[in-house]
Amino acid sequence: MTHEFDTRFFDLLHARSANLAPGDTVVDPLVMTSVFALPDEPDPSRVYARMATPTVEAAEARLSALEAAPSLLFPSGMGAYAALFTALLRPGDRLILLTDGYYTPRSLATEVLAPMGIETTCIPSGEIADAPLDGVKLVMIETPTNPGLDVIDIAALAARCHAAGALLAVDNTVLTPLLQQPLDLGADVVLSADTKAMSGHSDLLLGHVASRDEELMKKIHTIRTLSGNIAGPFEAWMLIRGLETLEVRLARMCDNARAALPLLKDSGKCGDVLYPEAHDQARDPGFLVGITLPTKEATDRFIAVAGLAPVTSFGGLHSAADRRGRWGDDVDAGFLRLSFGVEPTKPLLAALKKGLAAV
Ligand SMILES: *Cc1c(COP(=O)(O)O)cnc(C)c1O
Repeated sequence: MTHEFDTRFFDLLHARSANLAPGDTVVDPLVMTSVFALPDEPDPSRVYARMATPTVEAAEARLSALEAAPSLLFPSGMGAYAALFTALLRPGDRLILLTDGYYTPRSLATEVLAPMGIETTCIPSGEIADAPLDGVKLVMIETPTNPGLDVIDIAALAARCHAAGALLAVDNTVLTPLLQQPLDLGADVVLSADTKAMSGHSDLLLGHVASRDEELMKKIHTIRTLSGNIAGPFEAWMLIRGLETLEVRLARMCDNARAALPLLKDSGKCGDVLYPEAHDQARDPGFLVGITLPTKEATDRFIAVAGLAPVTSFGGLHSAADRRGRWGDDVDAGFLRLSFGVEPTKPLLAALKKGLAAV
């Protein structure tokens, strides 16, 4: 399989600068507006900001370069989920989600889709490869899963979905399109919470959907416009700024995660150390690591002494830890999801060592 990651990231960086006229700003302008001049024969793409704005389109051009597919931006990852589900699912349709994926889509299915007559089955990632797919409209997975970091073979599942007449959607938040390209592996649609590593600075909520299926993207665009589920220009502009450093940020984050693995494993404090198995569908297993400390109190000491950001998010500049048991994930009380940041490696490892000594 040939990965086009580097070429696509190059295209992302050059999406604007390749087409500049003399005197243009090299950086995308931030265009804050809700309205456009509408003379007698208005430009249909410049009607009202609920349809599109120049800065949202500029961010989508960058995302499209990276996904090698048309992309639509949403004000959050869950905004993207809501648009995808409402574009694709109708009463009587069946949806498959993972029991061990990000939990909010399951709540959306229970609290919003079920009363609308859309039936959801939740299946553990370890069983999805053999799950019965008859009569299923959409299979929505994440890989690696979050927080268990299990890997699902996307190409094999896409083939099974298509044989059964189902569509496969992949939430690619954990690895980003720079490390894994589900559309190239046969997925019909890819979704990302750009709140995480894509924007990368822990200061935005955003999400996007990408697909090479033109009809599907048209439906999603209509839903986005009719439901007013579009990102603001400022957030879109901040995303562009974050995306331009995605490659260097991810390189350091993944290197830091790998550098910490021996320290975590050899400490004798961490129980199983979870890190995704290397798989040729991904360029890199990523920057998330799962560890299990003996008790909840041990996690509190570790986080405080190591100086990790105690947040329930990942993919930011600062190495962070989240005790997933507090969110009801099916894990031990001492389970932590570690998200490695861009700190210089040596002092980061020294801080982790101090933290482990305090466990
Ligand atoms: C955070 C996250 C989401 C939801 O994104 P928001 O921007 O918080 O709405 C969806 N999927 C995964 C895997 C996530 O980590």
